[in-house]
Amino acid sequence: MFQTLKNYFGYDSFRPLQQDIIQNILAQKDTLVLMPTGGGKSICYQLPALLMEGTAIVVSPLISLMKDQVESLQANGIAARALNSSNNETENINLRRECLQGKIKLLYISPERLLIETNFLLKDIQISLFAIDEAHCISQWGHDFRPEYTQLKVLRNQFPKVPIVALTATADKITRKDIAQQLALKDPKIFISSFDRPNLSLEVKRGYQQKDKARTILEFIEKHKNECGIIYCMSRSKTESVAAMLMKQGIRATVYHAGLSSDMRDKAQNDFINDRVQVVCATIAFGMGIDKSNVRWVIHYNLPKSIESFYQEIGRAGRDGMESDTLLFYSLGDLVMLSKFATESSQQEINLEKLHRMQQYAESDICRRRILLNYFGETMDHDCGNCDVCRNPPERFDGTIIVQKALSAIARTNQQIGTHMLIDILKGSANQELIDKGYDKLKTYAAGRDIPARDWQDYLLQMLNLGYFEIAYNENNHLKITESGQKVLFGKEPAMLVVIKREEFIPAKEKRKKKAKEEVLFPTPVTFGNENKDLFEELRVLRKKLA
Ligand code: ADP
Ligand code: MG
Repeated sequence: MFQTLKNYFGYDSFRPLQQDIIQNILAQKDTLVLMPTGGGKSICYQLPALLMEGTAIVVSPLISLMKDQVESLQANGIAARALNSSNNETENINLRRECLQGKIKLLYISPERLLIETNFLLKDIQISLFAIDEAHCISQWGHDFRPEYTQLKVLRNQFPKVPIVALTATADKITRKDIAQQLALKDPKIFISSFDRPNLSLEVKRGYQQKDKARTILEFIEKHKNECGIIYCMSRSKTESVAAMLMKQGIRATVYHAGLSSDMRDKAQNDFINDRVQVVCATIAFGMGIDKSNVRWVIHYNLPKSIESFYQEIGRAGRDGMESDTLLFYSLGDLVMLSKFATESSQQEINLEKLHRMQQYAESDICRRRILLNYFGETMDHDCGNCDVCRNPPERFDGTIIVQKALSAIARTNQQIGTHMLIDILKGSANQELIDKGYDKLKTYAAGRDIPARDWQDYLLQMLNLGYFEIAYNENNHLKITESGQKVLFGKEPAMLVVIKREEFIPAKEKRKKKAKEEVLFPTPVTFGNENKDLFEELRVLRKKLA
């Protein structure tokens, strides 16, 4: 076994669990492997494939991924082939002949193709094992469900004697169970390697607006001179605009998303792998199966929709084990958008729950790594020291007045506004729609002009997470004050907010201005004595109407 490892793969030793997994497969047992991206799952089935009689059938979701794997196996002198829709007739005929002659050790195949071949090719050859890579694709609970995968159910029945090994980097408990069930694994042995990637630093920046993000990204890249990284964006157009912004600054950047031709995608991927570009601005379409060990950083321009996606994406950094940095921008706008998507999806509950967990991560004021590992079912008995929370524990202050200002503005518009309008009202902006609606006559108009709009964004996000208001996704994303919001509004409970720390990015000139301003920030505390009684009435009526 060690000889094979050295001869074919060039490694001197196994990584944790690899050897146990391989032994289990060699003993012809069904196996479930949960290992983070970059953990080294491939060898777990490639090595047994070499040692066992017959051909290993590897199911993989992406043609590009198959191609890469097959090429690197062939480069190591291993008889590997891929069977998928990109093959032509002659290639297929040759491939079949080689398979029948028992010359092929690993046959990569797409799930659709596998199903067709179960009654043809697969019947006629000796199969050593089935490896189902990216096995979470079979589960609706996973973050990348692919209907084609569900048909793999038939394998266990049709090939009762052939061991099946399912591999994934998605390890939450429900998905795990679902994979084993759907593949009808026989008493599978489950191997879970630690999901901890201590070499990845974790950082979240909250409530940033577009231009702040751009500046922060440029500073970040400045600190990572000549080190390559990935910027994940929610939309295709965003990948393009971020790349354009970088290129304008002389940074070698490219774009990758599913809207590009496959030639363009291949080019982007190759340019990145071969260090011809420093940065890829990409949607989630980028990265599955990309084997580049020296990605030094990953930025999430937008909030990912789940912790699994997030973890998989940051996992593309630091695969060589060296220190690498990750940065996540978290904004209210993203949260609203993603909640809307989730609400409109067919798996509303699951998706909202996943988003909620992601939100908790981003909002956390405890060690972020604890939250991540906790999500994957691991516990950590110490703080990691390598996340922003550990490095800089948050300071809180009594933000009751700030919260009251925001909530009373919401109440006075009969809860008919979204966050943009709310900030406009608080800032006293002269936006036409606002004036048309008479919001400039509100008592709360311009009540928050002393706080920068981006800080309002942040505070609103905090208020949302503290449960002071909700967003009615089915009502134009209008904000609705909750019970606990009312308690703060009517002075029954204080609201503790986290101090926003942004000093590092404020140029000296502005800093001086800010200092002067600070003294007048809340000149006289706004009290809502009697006014609030009317408001309370208004709210009661409103609540009734809503109920
Ligand atoms: P995964 O599929 O889990 O994301 P891979 O199988 O693609 O991970 O492996 C990730 C990287 O780790 C690859 O570059 C691979 O060559 C390397 N690797 C795997 N096992 C070992 C090992 N035992 N020793 C050294 N490097 C390894
Ligand atoms: Mg893999």
